[in-house]
Amino acid sequence: VTEADPREALVAAARRLDAAGFMPTKSGNLSLRTARGFWITPSGLPYADLSAEDCVELDADGARLAGQALPSSEWRLHAAILAARPDVTAVVHTHSPFASALACARCPIPPFHYMIALAGGDTIPCADYATFGTEALARSAVAALGATLRAALLANHGVVTLGVSLRSAEALAGEVENLARQFLALRAAGLTPVQLTSAEMADVTRQFASYGRLR
Ligand SMILES: [Zn+2]
Repeated sequence: VTEADPREALVAAARRLDAAGFMPTKSGNLSLRTARGFWITPSGLPYADLSAEDCVELDADGARLAGQALPSSEWRLHAAILAARPDVTAVVHTHSPFASALACARCPIPPFHYMIALAGGDTIPCADYATFGTEALARSAVAALGATLRAALLANHGVVTLGVSLRSAEALAGEVENLARQFLALRAAGLTPVQLTSAEMADVTRQFASYGRLR
């Protein structure tokens, strides 16, 4: 195991997200694409105790390629997203509290703040409800993300973010949680957020692209 080991990167990111309160009661899971499949965090282990050896490499159909532990119960979600989205390398799934609260209302996050554009569109959608760990959930997440979005809420469950690197998927998980917190604060205060127009959001996307923020 070296610092360049992708498993070490997964473990470090999982610990940071757990420390941020995004992975209550051992929820959440992370994956990173490999040449022949993907590494994924294991099922049911406290993140504080996680080591690189606990990560599991699966192929696109979920067959074990490396590692001994039981893979995350959401491996189908990760497999389906990585298969559908060759433009991304990493998938982060969390139960971060504010984004999960909006997901429980099946409430998409509209373009009330320009940072929504980091998620690849004008709105962060909420995927249709399906039981955790199922192929149906994997399908609904893939449908909500479409060809370009990098974040979606999962109804009555949590949130999923995608990235060209594990770092970018992790950072987006933090940004979506921040936006969800702001949106809920506005609603709680009885204020109606003013939404940006699609032309304004297109300008934001161009500006981000010029800063390399979308990588
Ligand atoms: Zn979950």
